[in-house]
Amino acid sequence: MTEKIFARASERTKLSPGENVWVNVDVLMTHDVCGPGVIGVFKKEFGDDAKVWDREKVVIIPDHYIFTSDERANRNVDIIRDFSNEQNIKYFYDITDRSNFKANPDYKGVCHIALAQEGHCRPGEILVGTDSHTCTAGAFGQFATGIGNTDAGFVLGTGKILLKVPPTIRFVLDGEMPDYLLAKDLILQIIGEISVSGATYKAMEFVGTTIESLSMEERMTLCNMAIEAGGKNGIVPADATTFKYLEGKTTMSYEPVYSDAQAGYVAEYRIDVTKLEPLVAKPNSPDNRGLARECKDVKLDRVYIGSCTGGKTEDFLAAARVLLASGDKVKVPTYIVPATQKVWMDLYTLPVPGSGGKTCSQIFEQAGCNSPNSPSCGACMGGPLDTYARMNEPQASLLVNY
Ligand code: SF4
Repeated sequence: MTEKIFARASERTKLSPGENVWVNVDVLMTHDVCGPGVIGVFKKEFGDDAKVWDREKVVIIPDHYIFTSDERANRNVDIIRDFSNEQNIKYFYDITDRSNFKANPDYKGVCHIALAQEGHCRPGEILVGTDSHTCTAGAFGQFATGIGNTDAGFVLGTGKILLKVPPTIRFVLDGEMPDYLLAKDLILQIIGEISVSGATYKAMEFVGTTIESLSMEERMTLCNMAIEAGGKNGIVPADATTFKYLEGKTTMSYEPVYSDAQAGYVAEYRIDVTKLEPLVAKPNSPDNRGLARECKDVKLDRVYIGSCTGGKTEDFLAAARVLLASGDKVKVPTYIVPATQKVWMDLYTLPVPGSGGKTCSQIFEQAGCNSPNSPSCGACMGGPLDTYARMNEPQASLLVNY
């Protein structure tokens, strides 16, 4: 599937793994951390008066260091705002009032989830972004990968990038998904099996009856962590679930690509999902896989539920169901950071199944969690000292990401 997407994007009929090709980019995403560097490269190489190759194909999303008084972090947002105004960038999801995120209708939150919610992830296309978790968008049957600032500066000026065609590993996941598992368990199972370098510069193609049954958010979780296995990209074939999700989100036409029956793979793994148990990634690596039940005596200092991997609506619904079933109060500070404005709204409006109509926010409040905070990357990447939920001293934390 990835080879066919590359072939179309490079105007070739057929490609093989290992070939280097110039690929036409459909979407370039950057954010407040890398955006200033990308803009610097673009200005240096193409000139102060240069125009981006296509103002409608550049998506700029402030999300990492937003709700902070750190002057350098705030300056980064100012730089991407000035550039977006100068270039008349169509999709700049600005924040102007940091004291109240709800007062910013354009502001979205974590880029990878916002890209999907705003219709920028489309089957068969090429999406590159200056962030390793750009691979999240592979959930839509597109090629999506993280690139560096220098490459992104070049893409800004030309709309092209030189890429090596990756070989593909095929993961066939079959069986009905037990309701105590999430896609996070599936990808931790895979990474534990192949290691954090097991898919280095390879496409990770996820197929099978289990994958077909997953929602788009769950497919995003799966593809999000392809990079934790070293993968160039993760990809799920587009289907009716994909097309349904995209309804009303994009007016762009798109053409899905599918693997041929005779496609070649460097390896194939088969997993019977009915035999899996809930997993955790123990310190200090995503492939340090452990059964959740074997970790029940590990003392935690705090819990953080958020990020592009674990801060989507369905992640919070799952957490709320656990709290509801236990009926207990949380015993350590528990921080809730929705990925986007839309997720934040869902926490306050969507009833949790089986709760008699309670919302996630009500269940979290009754359990003693902290109130859902402003949508952003929050403490996922650390951030400035005043970042919400940041650990400023050594603590044992359960981060629902890696
Ligand atoms: S939520 Fe965390 S992993 Fe995701 S883009 Fe932000 S900092 Fe990176």
